[in-house]
Amino acid sequence: MMIIMHTDATEQQIAGVVERVEDNGLHAHLSKGEERTVIGVVGDGRAIFKDQFLHLPGVDRVIPISRPYKLASREFIPDNSMFPLDGVKVGDNGIVLIAGPCSVESRSQLLETAYAVREAGAHALRGGAFKPRTSPYSFQGLGEAGLEMLAEAREQTGMPIVTEIMAPEHIPLLTRYADVLQVGARNMQNYALLNAVGESQHPILLKRSMMASIEEMLMAAEYILSHGNRRVMLCERGIRTFETATRNTTDINAVPVLKSLTHLPVILDPSHSTGHWEYVAAIARAGVAAGADGLIVEVHVNPTEAKSDGPQSLKPERFAEMVSQIRAIAEAVGRSLAPVPSSEASPVTAAGK
Ligand code: PEP
Ligand code: MN
Repeated sequence: MMIIMHTDATEQQIAGVVERVEDNGLHAHLSKGEERTVIGVVGDGRAIFKDQFLHLPGVDRVIPISRPYKLASREFIPDNSMFPLDGVKVGDNGIVLIAGPCSVESRSQLLETAYAVREAGAHALRGGAFKPRTSPYSFQGLGEAGLEMLAEAREQTGMPIVTEIMAPEHIPLLTRYADVLQVGARNMQNYALLNAVGESQHPILLKRSMMASIEEMLMAAEYILSHGNRRVMLCERGIRTFETATRNTTDINAVPVLKSLTHLPVILDPSHSTGHWEYVAAIARAGVAAGADGLIVEVHVNPTEAKSDGPQSLKPERFAEMVSQIRAIAEAVGRSLAPVPSSEASPVTAAGK
């Protein structure tokens, strides 16, 4: 529920309402707008008597929130959430491009890819050091050695790092190296991990499980938000359907649906949603046309030699071509690519920051 205060409500009246919310065992989330203060009530408020708030001094109206997720909902927070990522604004009008290999495989592979995607206009570098592979016999990632390579790429190119976290116990290690922790599709409903990344207060890229509804994804985001971590990006990466021509089916609907249901930035992953490099640019274009705030794209200098996800990885020159198409699509829908911060605007910080 949301408690809308009168435009002339005093600080004391606001404090009185907050106190009553807390007396009910719930948490009050204050949004102080230019005109008036809105108090969001967070927690399981189903059993409480809503009229008790109506008669408190300074209260104008009480509006129930119809969604099971609160902090993630646009009903609760109407304006787009935006947060800076090393000088790049995520969730603003500018589209953010995250690119890089599926897995960090070697220093030269990573650095070559990092420079190439940076040159093409990417804002952030992706690369997995801990990989969630379907088979235990597949390449599992380089672990901490991979993180060190990511740190070096960050230092050399100035790009912030997005890398996957698979276990709560890895948080101290990963937060030393990564600017964004990716919670992968397979862990979207790993509640211990969601609670831990929520506690970490680190920016999170939460990928949709291949079998989750949009509402389930928003409930997963709610776990992170409920720990006070408000820097969450949502990522549509394709869902499982009966179609076998592609690895997954891009739920392009999810982009405008999420934009309407939540204030959180929405990122589209055209690589995992198609599984074939030939379709990646088309789906990336569709994602931007549909209103995505950014893209996360797999790029490899030599896809046929990739240790994971080679078939869906773009060569750097194809990524560059895709970026110029994205720029045109963005303009056509009144958007633009987010400006790439100059190295002076975004001083390179070493890993372990
Ligand atoms: C990845 O980003 O490489 C990855 C494993 O993605 P997902 O969790 O969407 O499968
Ligand atoms: Mn991958």
